[in-house]
Amino acid sequence: MTELAISIITIVLTILLGLCVGSFLNVVIYRLPNGMSLAKPASHCPKCQNPIRWYDNIPVLSYLILGGKCRHCKEKISFRYPFVELLNTAMWFLCLLCFTNFIIPSNPMNWLRFVVSCIVCSTLICIFFCDLDSMEIPEVLFLVLLICGLVLLLDNPSMERLMQKVFGFLGAGLLFYLVNAVYKLIRKRDGIGFGDIELVACAGLIIGGYHMIFALVVSCVLGGIALIIISAIRKEKGKEYPFAVLLCSGIALALFVGDYVVNCYIGLLG
Ligand SMILES: [Zn+2]
Repeated sequence: MTELAISIITIVLTILLGLCVGSFLNVVIYRLPNGMSLAKPASHCPKCQNPIRWYDNIPVLSYLILGGKCRHCKEKISFRYPFVELLNTAMWFLCLLCFTNFIIPSNPMNWLRFVVSCIVCSTLICIFFCDLDSMEIPEVLFLVLLICGLVLLLDNPSMERLMQKVFGFLGAGLLFYLVNAVYKLIRKRDGIGFGDIELVACAGLIIGGYHMIFALVVSCVLGGIALIIISAIRKEKGKEYPFAVLLCSGIALALFVGDYVVNCYIGLLG
């Protein structure tokens, strides 16, 4: 088989598997924060309780064929389901592009980076939507990120890179912990959820310190814009906001373009 044929097969498999895992992420996002089993009961319509047959459960395609409605009771199906499937696929495709450069077969370490990055992206999608829905992030998702971070230490384990990751883990975690401690001292309540502290620490281990600084800057800029828009629409004060949503966006961006941004920044510093 030629290298081109292997590359095409890998791209097609990445897209198909990305869609299937995206479909599973919808189950995780809905069931995990509610303490429900991921395996049982089988997928069913929340209104008419009819089981969803396999041919109505094909990622994206079934949604389009059914016109976004349940086959039996015509209850509207949220656009979020195909959106999560497409988002997961797009991120997996980007991982393939960024970490293997479509040169297949390539260095085994690139493959390790590709597979672990796909798991990181899918976990970030779950954290994003769990936080958006209920501001409750299941602990197991942080454990997945932590394991991914530890596995990635195998990738190019030079002393400098290792220090970068330790700095990312401890620096980001401690920074958030201290900011919260100061906030608590002044306002007598938590300003940052413990989940956010766990998230930045795990992400710091995955992408390293420099990339984490970029991720935090992106998160804060996005947060600032979101806060201006929200306060213009709603007048309520003292409300909690899902900060992990912004952090996940910043971390994902740092994962894909972090190398480029950090190199530009270091280049500017000479
Ligand atoms: Zn139904």
